[in-house]
Amino acid sequence: MPRGKRTVFGMFCTDSGNRVGTVRLHKQNSKGVGWKEFKVEKFCPVCRKRMPMKLKEERHSS
Ligand SMILES: [Zn+2]
Repeated sequence: MPRGKRTVFGMFCTDSGNRVGTVRLHKQNSKGVGWKEFKVEKFCPVCRKRMPMKLKEERHSS
């Protein structure tokens, strides 16, 4: 796998499971922190408030 390749992750609300969007991340950043440590909050239209997001890797055919 080439260096610097990033992976697309879907962002899902931890409460409603609503798919809020996507984010592109390196699987591991320069400090060796994996994407599982990545914390993000987004506005969820279903819950109508900011919710912590759960990431799920999405494979995109190229
Ligand atoms: Zn939600």
